[in-house]
Amino acid sequence: MEANSSGEDCCVKVAVHIRPLLGDEKLQGCKDCVTLVPGKPQVQIGTHSFTFDHVYGSTGSPSTAMYEECVAPLVDGLFQGYNATVLAYGQTGSGKTYTMGTSLKDDGCQTGLIPKVMNALFSKIETLKHEIEFQLHVSFIEIHKEEVRDLLDPSLSNKQETANGHAAKVTIPGKPPIQIRETSNGVITLAGSTECSVKTLKEMADCLEQGSLSRATGSTNMNNQSSRSHAIFTITMEQMRRLHPGNSNDSNLNDCMTEEYLCAKLHLVDLAGSERAKRTGSDGLRFKEGVHINKGLLALGNVISALGDEKKRKEGLHVPYRDSKLTRLLQDSLGGNSRTVMIGKICFFCSPADINAEETLNTLKYANRAR
Ligand code: ADP
Ligand code: MG
Repeated sequence: MEANSSGEDCCVKVAVHIRPLLGDEKLQGCKDCVTLVPGKPQVQIGTHSFTFDHVYGSTGSPSTAMYEECVAPLVDGLFQGYNATVLAYGQTGSGKTYTMGTSLKDDGCQTGLIPKVMNALFSKIETLKHEIEFQLHVSFIEIHKEEVRDLLDPSLSNKQETANGHAAKVTIPGKPPIQIRETSNGVITLAGSTECSVKTLKEMADCLEQGSLSRATGSTNMNNQSSRSHAIFTITMEQMRRLHPGNSNDSNLNDCMTEEYLCAKLHLVDLAGSERAKRTGSDGLRFKEGVHINKGLLALGNVISALGDEKKRKEGLHVPYRDSKLTRLLQDSLGGNSRTVMIGKICFFCSPADINAEETLNTLKYANRAR
């Protein structure tokens, strides 16, 4: 079991994914500026060389290997009651949404990591359902400018067609904002967001699709909205296992007839684009958004380095979860508590194109810091 208790001195495992050059990039005359070292989890860009836990390139089917190595152990952990988080980090256009599988326009929806998680989850439930009663809930939210938006809000599906053919969201006036709360035993909850109870793979896939659609139509300019927000798809699984006692005449028999209850959640996070604020535009509003995004990503970086620093952790160092909505929400699922949390996976996405070399190097440096 790869929980934190296994003596690992890190809180996240780092995987790097370099997508292939896109047709458009080739047309623009872009060259590939990232080299993968064969047989090693190593990436080279210019004179820089980095080693990570896993590196995935453009050949083969990276999302399959990535699923098997990075995500499947977390799905198994869910059945043992461990919370976990998968984070996709990278500049806009680096392939986060494609690989997570929340993109509606690509085949990512069939082959991405989230669809693979859902398939694996339901296959395993099928083999266990005679001994265990399962209850599954899904939530799908977006954090934009430090505000939480419910992507599964039923009122968002009453879409209105606007003049340009995009569906517009309907906001109910007076609806209280979604709040992140912590229960007395340290469980983080989202008050006011939709928790869809799902019984089948189809129902869960419908939630993913509905939320992805709300995300894409949240703004008239699709790319802008989705690249500046963090999207968090959360699967919560409750298990009730009846423990059958043996045939003894023990008078404590009734005490043995207890039920074992487990509850755990898996967050799958498509983070906001990591590109520098200066690139996102110069008008005031966008700058404000840029600052907020940086706040989430910056806080995440600080949380990960605080958790990864064994010496500081032993000294009981304060982990700055409260510095952003993103880190606050992930608090009970991102390391730091070996009893309930699996080592998280942070997957860094890079473009191989030379025009993106500066951002790719930034991403690899951030990734290196997370180790
Ligand atoms: P991000 O979510 O990081 O902004 P996207 O997932 O939207 O990036 O990907 C940007 C573009 O690159 C999309 O057109 C997508 O189809 C393409 N793309 C991303 N990853 C791959 C891949 N592994 N193979 C082929 N095309 C990809
Ligand atoms: Mg995206």
